[in-house]
Amino acid sequence: VDVVSKEKRSQMMAGIKGRDTRPEMIVRKLLFAHGFRYRLHRKDLPGCPDLVLTGHKLAIFVHGCFWHQHANCDLAKLPATNEEFWRKKLGRNVRRDRQVVEELKASGWRVLVVHECAIRRLSQDRLLQRITRYVGGSRRSGEIAGAAAKRTLGRKVPG
Ligand SMILES: [Zn+2]
Repeated sequence: VDVVSKEKRSQMMAGIKGRDTRPEMIVRKLLFAHGFRYRLHRKDLPGCPDLVLTGHKLAIFVHGCFWHQHANCDLAKLPATNEEFWRKKLGRNVRRDRQVVEELKASGWRVLVVHECAIRRLSQDRLLQRITRYVGGSRRSGEIAGAAAKRTLGRKVPG
C-alpha cells in the first residue's frame, strides 16, 4: 500500500534529487562539470542557441525529438489524432531549424544538435565523449542521436 500521497511523494523526490531532468539541463551540467564554460541563449545569434562555446565558435542546440521531428526517431511519432495539424506545425519547426543552422554557418559558427534520444539513451560518459570530440574537431555541423535514430539534416521536410 502506498502510504504517501502523490503530492507528498513528488515533494520528497524533489527534495532528494533537487535535479532538473530536462535534456538541456543535463547537457549543461555535464559540460560544466567537465570544465566547459558557455553562454546560454545568446539572443544576438540566429535561433538563440541553448549553449554557446564562444572560444570554440560552437553553438549547441538541445532538441526535443518530437517538437523538432527528429527523423526516423521513435520519440518523434505524430499523434494519430490531428496528424495533419501536427505535420504542418512541426514541419515549420524543422524548416526553421534548418534555416538557423545555415545562418549560423554563414556567419562562421559551427553547430551541434544534441537530440533528446541521445540524452536518454547514451550513458553520460558516452554523451560527454561524443560532445568533446565534436568540440575539439573541425566539423561545421553535426548531430548526436540515440542509437535508434538517423541524421536529420538534409531530410525531406514534411508538410
Ligand atoms: Zn530522437
